[in-house]
Amino acid sequence: MMSIGWRSLGFLIIILLLAACSASQGGGPEAELNASANQADEQATPSPTPSLKAPPASKWDDRTLYAQNLNPSGQQFLDALPQASVYHIWLTIPENMTEMLTGSLEVRYINHETVPLEEVYFRLFPNYAGGQLTVQNVLLDGQPAASTLESDQTSLRVALEEPLNPADAVVISMDYQLQLPETMGGNYGLLGYFENILVLDTFYPMIPAYDQGSWYAHRPYQNGDLTANDASFYLVEVRAPAELVLAASGSVVDESINDGMQTLTIAAGPARDFYLAGSPSFSVLSEEWNGIQVNSYALEGYQTHQRYALQDAIQALETFSDLFGPYPYRELDLLSSPMMALGIEYPGIFGILYELYEEGGFTYGVPNQAMLETVVVHEVGHQWFYNVVGNNQQSEPWVDEALTQFITQQYFVERYGDGAGSALETNWEDRWAQVENEDIPLGLTADKYEGREYSAIIYGRGPIFYRQLEADLGRDVLLEGLRGYYQQHQWQVATTEGVRQALEKACGCDLGGWFSGWVYALE
Ligand SMILES: [Zn+2]
Repeated sequence: MMSIGWRSLGFLIIILLLAACSASQGGGPEAELNASANQADEQATPSPTPSLKAPPASKWDDRTLYAQNLNPSGQQFLDALPQASVYHIWLTIPENMTEMLTGSLEVRYINHETVPLEEVYFRLFPNYAGGQLTVQNVLLDGQPAASTLESDQTSLRVALEEPLNPADAVVISMDYQLQLPETMGGNYGLLGYFENILVLDTFYPMIPAYDQGSWYAHRPYQNGDLTANDASFYLVEVRAPAELVLAASGSVVDESINDGMQTLTIAAGPARDFYLAGSPSFSVLSEEWNGIQVNSYALEGYQTHQRYALQDAIQALETFSDLFGPYPYRELDLLSSPMMALGIEYPGIFGILYELYEEGGFTYGVPNQAMLETVVVHEVGHQWFYNVVGNNQQSEPWVDEALTQFITQQYFVERYGDGAGSALETNWEDRWAQVENEDIPLGLTADKYEGREYSAIIYGRGPIFYRQLEADLGRDVLLEGLRGYYQQHQWQVATTEGVRQALEKACGCDLGGWFSGWVYALE
């Protein structure tokens, strides 16, 4: 509707600098750890007095509150993921953001692997992103636990008293303090308080995926998004100054205000992560589509593009629901904030570079209104591929990024016709040309791409792979395969082989040649 007609999409040619995902753009956040970080590596954390009271065991399995965030299609998964981790997180946001954010968490972890586990890892990503996340009082089923920091303080290893057998549960709790980074370096502007906007990317200790026989506990690669998480449930209590307008994953299920402080209880899940942002200067525009409340947050004075972003998000919800299957939640939030990427996805919420809200402006030579639509659509697409269907963004970043690029083009085809799609294709070709169209495989771990290769291959060659496959198999067959992929892997962690099998099922053919030529690492 208010978005660009397809003719103006010619401007989009240059567009997809679109590394719409934070870390993906320039190759991923650079580490800017404090000088003390390395010295403190492997050091044991203190484990004094218990400070959390575990709720009754039944609370862990009561999914009533999460149902409030889910529409009927999402609610069918409430009982389908009995082994998903359940987080209870408390967070206090101070009046003055230069002070520590403080909180605690308890999580019930069930071993859903096939082997006994001797430890559970938590990721402390703020220590990679220029902030300082520290933990104390680590308890294991209420008893002090031995824990060590590893990987430049980005991992916390909690040793188990005895191996945790498959299907057995353990409750781990801890207190935490977070000192926000003061500059955007190292965090892409995704964690901190910048220009009056608080953004809290991966702010809490989170359990990473256990994948192919080991925990994701290594220092994050410089390319790609940081997280690789299993779908989990989050019940989060936030105390914050009352004037802060907050936006978060999930739905607010309870709220109160006392003495200038608001307390919100938020339920989210299943979801890969929990994200929170806020500003005393946010205004919000809201609209409902098909039972989904869409909220568009921006600073005062950007109302025109704030409304465009809202409409773009609704159109993308509609298009991707039709193409792949329903969006699971009752709410989708988007906010504009300063950052060093064009956009960033989280479950049920995403961020957009605030410069795209400048009316009449251009970004990378593209009119802001057109760029805004492309970025919004890309980030909405990640709700299907990254959140509902997860993948290891460090070991197989192509799985969600190349596909999200491709479906962004499919959105333009659906909305405006083939001409719109071809403009995006030109951009992919330009990207790939940056590495002389070298046949670098799509399926490498993020650290194997050097310099421009990450953007050129994952965001350029990746969607070209899908486009050529579309030409070979036919659009209907390819989309049927992607629909099958979405249906089959909902709330699981999919892999390259999952993509291949779903596409082969749809075409009734062997795609071994395609995957050898484009995806698999060369021998
Ligand atoms: Zn992306």
